[in-house]
Amino acid sequence: MDTKEAQELMRKIYFDRDLARGLERTLLRTFHELGELSDAVLRGNDQSHVESEVADVFAWLCSVANLLEVDLSDALDRKYGNGCSKCQKIPCECSNTP
Ligand SMILES: [Zn+2]
Repeated sequence: MDTKEAQELMRKIYFDRDLARGLERTLLRTFHELGELSDAVLRGNDQSHVESEVADVFAWLCSVANLLEVDLSDALDRKYGNGCSKCQKIPCECSNTP
C-alpha cells in the first residue's frame, strides 16, 4: 500500500469519527501514539510491537492530514521529492544536522 492508498483507507475507515472528535483531539491522540511508539522502542519491545506502533502513528497522522485536507503523498513529494528539503541532495549534505 502506498501513501495515497493508506491515507484514503484511513479516510474510509475513520473520517466520520475523526470529524466528530475534531482536529485538536485528533492531534492529541497522534501525540499519544507517538509516545507509545517511543515507549516500545526505548523498552526494547519486539519488532512486531514496534511495527504496530509505527503503523498507529502513521494512521493517526493520516487522520490529521484528512481533517486538514492535506494530501500526504503530494505534500511529501513537494517537500522531499527532490531530496533534502534544504540542500536538495540525496543523501542530505547539510552540515548542521546530526
Ligand atoms: Zn540537507
